[in-house]
Amino acid sequence: MNVTITCPNCGSGIHVLPNQAAAQAKCEICEHLVDVNFTSKDEASTLCQCPVCSRKDFYQQKDFNRKIGVTLFVLAAIASIWTYGLSFVALWLVDLVLFKKLGSIAICYKCQTIFRKVANIDEIRPFDHEMNDRVIYADHDFEGKPLSH
Ligand SMILES: [Zn+2]
Ligand SMILES: [Zn+2]
Repeated sequence: MNVTITCPNCGSGIHVLPNQAAAQAKCEICEHLVDVNFTSKDEASTLCQCPVCSRKDFYQQKDFNRKIGVTLFVLAAIASIWTYGLSFVALWLVDLVLFKKLGSIAICYKCQTIFRKVANIDEIRPFDHEMNDRVIYADHDFEGKPLSH
């Protein structure tokens, strides 16, 4: 499992590998230290509890690089002038192929830490707006349980 912590000080990504011996992760940009608490489950790539904020609420999404997506869209828009919009069809096809190949990542609702190569990714649900709002604005802790009405 790969872990990318979002630095609370400068917003940069801090890349770490689960390691029970590590107590802190250091931001390479601003040298801010983030407390981490990895368990043997993390070392086995099983995501149960966030090593940064100790919450158990995560969502799953495709590992999509937004910058590349925007760049491709702009290129297709420019090219469409000469291709009468065909470039958008090409973009759609590229998107279709790329999207299928992308892996899934898990993200912590509370602290935005990103987890790649998670063994139990299938157990993690897709993004839920209501859960997100309640975690972010009301500081609600779902303790890993899905939202129930
Ligand atoms: Zn930083
Ligand atoms: Zn977290």
